[in-house]
Amino acid sequence: MASALQNTDPEVHELIRLETQRQFDTLRLIASENYTSSAVLEASASVLTNKYSEGYAGKRYYQGQQYVDAIERLAIERACALFGADHANVQPYSGSPANLAVYFALLKPGDKVMGLGLDTGGHLTHGWGVSITGSYFTPVRYGLDPRTECLDYDAIRDLAKRERPKLLIAGITAYPRQLDFEAFASIAREVDAYLLADIAHLAGLVAGGAHPSPIPHADVVSTTTHKTLRGPRGGMLMCRKALRKAIDKAVFPGLQGGPHNHTTAAIAVALKEAASDEFKTYAHAVVANAKVLAEGLQAEGFRLITGGTDNHQIVMDVTPRGTTGKEFAQALELAGIVTNYNTVPNDPRKPFDPSGLRIGTAAVTSRGMGPDEMRRTARWFGEALEHRQNEEALRRIGDDVRALAAHFPPPGPYVAENTPL
Ligand SMILES: *Cc1c(COP(=O)(O)O)cnc(C)c1O
Repeated sequence: MASALQNTDPEVHELIRLETQRQFDTLRLIASENYTSSAVLEASASVLTNKYSEGYAGKRYYQGQQYVDAIERLAIERACALFGADHANVQPYSGSPANLAVYFALLKPGDKVMGLGLDTGGHLTHGWGVSITGSYFTPVRYGLDPRTECLDYDAIRDLAKRERPKLLIAGITAYPRQLDFEAFASIAREVDAYLLADIAHLAGLVAGGAHPSPIPHADVVSTTTHKTLRGPRGGMLMCRKALRKAIDKAVFPGLQGGPHNHTTAAIAVALKEAASDEFKTYAHAVVANAKVLAEGLQAEGFRLITGGTDNHQIVMDVTPRGTTGKEFAQALELAGIVTNYNTVPNDPRKPFDPSGLRIGTAAVTSRGMGPDEMRRTARWFGEALEHRQNEEALRRIGDDVRALAAHFPPPGPYVAENTPL
């Protein structure tokens, strides 16, 4: 029987079907992506999308909120319990607006914000020039130790003392090592700055105990809900009691209108899942898989930034192997391995064709892949490099990748809709 979508819009239905198949058939090694559970998808696709709820639970500007209030309260309680936070706001539409709300809550236009540069693994919203955060505020950028390619807390402290930022940001989007939130907090205290910990990439690892938590140290914690946390696309803020009012006011009415209630419900579901023992096992498996994949890639001769990983990410410089990030990412895609090209620290090349590749193990671990599959994947990287100019050979690797992927159906509706080839 044809579905409602199939009847109404066969074009969109078919494109979604093809995307579903693509997500099934390929190895998704994009560090910011994951597979949500069917339960999360079901909540995301619910009638809650029909409801307007400007305001907060118990204080809305529209009637008919009895169930939406209960859902939002549940999401907030679960976030506070899971992360040990005093307060949570689950309304930010995504990670970027969540960060912007923090700026709006704590800063005046022109104030100094200090974050890791985009070119060394920070995020656009940490004060990069093309972002509103870098043009309406005054950015100061810290980088990495050129020798170890790791964060150098003494250098960050010296820079903070010279520049006296109002907001210090601890957060990464392409950096394969743990963050020392305690060290960041002591620097922030010393210069009388607020500390924002942006755990968009790390939230699932923090929730599962596979990365230290920023909650005891940061004034505000921002996160996305769709990366390692494995929820719907969304954002979340957590803060100390003293900042609760300022943060809530900045999200609504400061920056946003009505919250996306279907997303709030799906966040609540994801937070329940993330509190389970299974999720702890998952979070540790993500890191263990990244370590095995990193060792395998090194054995294939790739140069890894910082020499390895202790989170879900691997960043590598592929130029010593005679290729570029973009060329190699395109070759890998033909081989059924989906990654993204990325700058490496002090990259001499341009961001649209940089020297590196960023890889993450959150999605493949959600499919149940383990060390054996990571070792196999590392060998495929070596083969794809060797055959990077031979489309036929790359497609043959893609056949092998698809055959392996078929043994690891992702959580979600994939099995029902997609009989593996
Ligand atoms: C992904 C990310 C964001 C932004 O999230 P979006 O949902 O894409 O807006 C913010 N900060 C960091 C560190 C990220 O990695």
